[in-house]
Amino acid sequence: MMQISRPLLCLIFGFLGAAAANAEPSVLATLKPVHSLVAGVMEGAGKPELLIGGALSEHSYALKPSDARKLRAAALVFEIGPDMETYLIGALAGASGRVVVLEQAPGVRLQPARRGGLWGDDGDHDHGPTDPHIWLDPQNAIAMTRAIAEALAKTDPAHAGLYRTNAARQIMGLEALDREIAATLAPVKNRPYLVFHDAYHYFEARYGLHPAGAVTVAPDRPVGARRITELRQAVASGRTICLFREPQFPPKLIETLDQDTGGRSSARIGVLDPLGAELEPGPKLYPALIRNLAQSLAGCLTKKS
Ligand SMILES: [Zn+2]
Repeated sequence: MMQISRPLLCLIFGFLGAAAANAEPSVLATLKPVHSLVAGVMEGAGKPELLIGGALSEHSYALKPSDARKLRAAALVFEIGPDMETYLIGALAGASGRVVVLEQAPGVRLQPARRGGLWGDDGDHDHGPTDPHIWLDPQNAIAMTRAIAEALAKTDPAHAGLYRTNAARQIMGLEALDREIAATLAPVKNRPYLVFHDAYHYFEARYGLHPAGAVTVAPDRPVGARRITELRQAVASGRTICLFREPQFPPKLIETLDQDTGGRSSARIGVLDPLGAELEPGPKLYPALIRNLAQSLAGCLTKKS
């Protein structure tokens, strides 16, 4: 009589357990907007995990040991790319088959990093030659949605049909959102403003906006005295209607620039949030994030002084 040893039984049940757990792949997305697009495509099949939650910045993130464990366990990791998630370069080394770099997805249009004037300068090496905030153009979100659905379908063929149907529905919603935002922003297209950091190039290019520059060159570093002088001049001269702070960073610097105008300028303070700090993660975050940007800009730039 054949006897099955206890270790062999454990092995067999271990495999069965792993197969059951693999019914829905463990999926990890780095930033809230990426997570939102992935969550929309996965609806009905499972839920992706979010790496950077809360009100943390997309820059200057430090990977925790628990994050490294999540990265190792994930069947699929969605990220923008090594210019944005610099903190993942080491952690993802050797995991290339499981990582989807969305800035390289077919149909994603890249913008160059801005230089000169009140944008970055040549001493700023925080980002590469292209701007990594690709998700702020809904047309890029559409291309990202397609790439997300294809990667999920390949990893989890049992749900391929569901992923593609969800993607098609999400793309219809994004097209409608794009038209809505264009209409919201049309009246304020030519009004100049300053942003906190240069995160909105894609959004501004898509909707034909005219920003005057950014307050910081790198959001995780202090602003130099010469730059503060230039910014104060831009505010005092009336070359900017609104100053936009971000919820991920303290408002002190922006408030200082505004106070220094001594009432001579009509600059107002608004809030722009490129990540959705206060928004609940999930499929609805992305459209809410884009709508909030459009409403903040339109609201601040249309108010009479
Ligand atoms: Zn940024």
